[in-house]
Amino acid sequence: MARQTDNRKCLWCEQPIRGRADKKYCDDNCRNAFNNQRQEGEYNLVRNINRTLIRNRRILATVMQQAGSETCISKDILLQMGFQFKYFTQAFTSADGQVCHCCYDYGYLRLPEEGFLVIKKIENILTARLTGR
Ligand SMILES: [Zn+2]
Repeated sequence: MARQTDNRKCLWCEQPIRGRADKKYCDDNCRNAFNNQRQEGEYNLVRNINRTLIRNRRILATVMQQAGSETCISKDILLQMGFQFKYFTQAFTSADGQVCHCCYDYGYLRLPEEGFLVIKKIENILTARLTGR
């Protein structure tokens, strides 16, 4: 009957492994290659998310350029500008249960009708008149 350890394969090159039961790679070369690729993958993931967050902030800043401390905008326009709603830096819920999402110092919350209210600067977000919107 074959032991499970007989079927072990190197995590990098997938060749059968001989030796200690906890061995995961053929040798140091395979281990280094595997770890390098994994770190690069993690780095790319973080870099892509950071870029998306910065792009989202830039879109909100553009929307706010001609406005005062807050303005309304439709979801479609935000999407057309490339806004990605699933990426934000913070979210908090007001006393009346409205969720405000933020990208750094800009925030937005869904209006009861269509679209979103965009708020500039974290101080304004924290003191925003969320009630009755
Ligand atoms: Zn290997």
